[in-house]
Amino acid sequence: MIRLPFFLGLLIAVQGLSQTTGNNFLTGRTNGKLPYLEYGLGSDRLGGAKMTFLDTGVVVKVVDSTVINYRVQLSGNHFAYLPKANFKRDSSVSIKPYYLTGSWLVNGDDKYDYVSIALDEKLPYRSMQLINPSKLVVDIFGVTSNTNWITQRTSVKEVKNVYHEQIEDDVFRMIIELNHSQHWGYSIYYQGNRLFIKIKRQPDELQVSKMKIAVDAGHGGDNSGAKGITSGILEKHYTLMIAKEVEKMLTQAGAAVFMTRKEDVSVGMTERIEMLKNEDPDFLISIHLNSSVRDSVKGVSTYYRYIGFRPLTQYIQKAMLEMGMADFGNIGSFNFSLNGPTDYPNCLLEVAFLSNREDEALILDPEFHKAVATQVLCGIQEWLRACEKDKP
Ligand SMILES: [Zn+2]
Repeated sequence: MIRLPFFLGLLIAVQGLSQTTGNNFLTGRTNGKLPYLEYGLGSDRLGGAKMTFLDTGVVVKVVDSTVINYRVQLSGNHFAYLPKANFKRDSSVSIKPYYLTGSWLVNGDDKYDYVSIALDEKLPYRSMQLINPSKLVVDIFGVTSNTNWITQRTSVKEVKNVYHEQIEDDVFRMIIELNHSQHWGYSIYYQGNRLFIKIKRQPDELQVSKMKIAVDAGHGGDNSGAKGITSGILEKHYTLMIAKEVEKMLTQAGAAVFMTRKEDVSVGMTERIEMLKNEDPDFLISIHLNSSVRDSVKGVSTYYRYIGFRPLTQYIQKAMLEMGMADFGNIGSFNFSLNGPTDYPNCLLEVAFLSNREDEALILDPEFHKAVATQVLCGIQEWLRACEKDKP
């Protein structure tokens, strides 16, 4: 079960910002841990749909306010919502009528490829993954092209081609073609006013024994998650038991495994994401147990947010179905915190439903935990074999 990861935004009143500032907007920069933008003020259990994470220090123009969010203007036509906790007012920031892009550099070091672009200011951005063929698309807001050359070095391994288009007067689109069908992740950040897109390469050896795999046991500590319908067992204990079996199975297969928690402790979502970004795994499996108000609903499901990360979730779903579980589905665009990072492929696995009697009986059985671990390993192996086949 996924609990509400971010606060709901409630539009209270259209505050007249002009009364306090003399302007009809506030200026400042993104601040704090993992700032992010939302498209709107969604109020289902997963909150507003997230547009992107942003680096800190990114210039922000606030044009309106809700209880917990600011409405920010990204460009003439684009707006988004930023948590107030992620905004630091700075009246010395003046928003210019337009900014310009500079030259690009496309290069690689011994581990990553980099696409970087000089800008006049740390401007907001968002990104998207495309497939068939695989590409990254990065939009930078509030900026007009003055890119007069792109330097490309032979040290790149994953980047095939780059180009750009001014899709609106003040929205600049960078398009990055990749060599492999599988997206292995990327990070976007600033160094000074230069925007970097750090791109992960497909590992040379696509074997579990060469992988660093992160395993996340959902909930923990004061966050117990869902409850068993007849037994009253807590999700947090069983996600950990299953995660430990997965850890054991992957370790036996030779993988390096990182666990976000190993005990019954509270670990917040921001903390988990920061840990995972530091660990920089090849990919992440997050383990939860599902719950529904309808006790007839049962089965296994896997979830992804970005299309480029879908294959891992499909292979794990397929492997789980081989155990005879009901197919609750492979679910995309999922607005779950740990599906949010773009830095590595990630898969949320909702093993079975605690709210269904048959599924609950499985969850209570330690042999089932071992079987889940075996199937997760099989799914990963099948996925890696598929990646092997499409080497360019
Ligand atoms: Zn859960």
